[in-house]
Amino acid sequence: MTPLADLLARRIAATGPIRLSDYMAECLLHPQHGYYTTRPPFGAEGDFTTAPEISQMFGELLGLCLAQYWLDLGSPACHLVELGPGRGTLMADVLRATARVPGFHAAARVTLVEASPALATRQRQTLGSHPATWATTLDDVPQDAPLFLLANEFFDALPIRQFTRRGQGWAETMVGLTEGRLTLGQSPAAPIAALSHRLADTAEGEVVEICPAAAPLMARIGGQIGREGGAALIIDYGGWRARGDTFQALRHHAFADPLAEPGRADLTAHVDFEALALAAQPAAHAYITQGAFLTALGIDLRAEALAHRLSGPALTNHLAAHRRLTDPAEMGSVFKVLALHRPGTPPPPGLPPTSPGTA
Ligand code: SAH
Repeated sequence: MTPLADLLARRIAATGPIRLSDYMAECLLHPQHGYYTTRPPFGAEGDFTTAPEISQMFGELLGLCLAQYWLDLGSPACHLVELGPGRGTLMADVLRATARVPGFHAAARVTLVEASPALATRQRQTLGSHPATWATTLDDVPQDAPLFLLANEFFDALPIRQFTRRGQGWAETMVGLTEGRLTLGQSPAAPIAALSHRLADTAEGEVVEICPAAAPLMARIGGQIGREGGAALIIDYGGWRARGDTFQALRHHAFADPLAEPGRADLTAHVDFEALALAAQPAAHAYITQGAFLTALGIDLRAEALAHRLSGPALTNHLAAHRRLTDPAEMGSVFKVLALHRPGTPPPPGLPPTSPGTA
């Protein structure tokens, strides 16, 4: 048993089964035993690899997309914010790629929002001398200027609640104890106000998930963009109105039992982009696959330019990274991009105007 499994088992024995969201929150961010607070989870030796860790092209293209949009909006003083920056690679690539955009670095106040002190330290090392501020929540970032926000694989790490349709009500997935071991169970079915709109599109026994922390965050981001302008690029795996059980654990690049080693495996769920877009109103949104987005931003040309300087295994790796980010059979279509922008202004470069199917 991990130390965290022991703590959770005692808590459940004393006060009863806990929601999946409480379980996820403890596993990911417990100050002593949490996954993100105790270990560097990224890269080949870690549990998963993210787009900015796969290739510098990802951060470069996102950076140039935001900087171009900033120029289009008249180069305002602004906040450049990243949620859940991991090792800080994405922001470092954004800043390197935009260094020659006249005035951008002087105008953009950089804030990294990170809950794990260990990862914040890692991000400081990665960013080196570039001026930046760290915050543990978005609430600490001022709302007085246009917002340019990035979040890659952040929302999948936010705790979810999971429900199974039972008649006109919902049974909630709970973590309980059976003979001293953590096990999944279900609460008795009850009506859930936040899911009343899902009664129309679900059948008996279907599973839906909600991410309670996402709505207030999106309301804040969308409010600031609606009022002050700017854009958000939110990239993650998931879909439009997600359904089904997507709660999963990853350990050493393979799926694992989410209850087996609390605090030692990454726990995630797919992102419901429709819920994010709705919560971000009045901001307008655009939605596209990662592959189509990177292609529209010119990844093929950038990949070709970089390939000229490479040979041998470095070239092979570079070509594989390009494919991995864009190919529909790899990350290209499972990963989506939700962009937020001010109503009445066009979406950022690389994104189509809102399509009717997703409005
Ligand atoms: N964006 C990075 C890392 C993704 S992993 C990349 O693409 O490589 C998720 C990141 O979100 C980690 O840095 C984790 O510590 C952070 N995180 C998770 N929950 C958080 C929360 N509630 N508030 C702030 N940061 C959080």
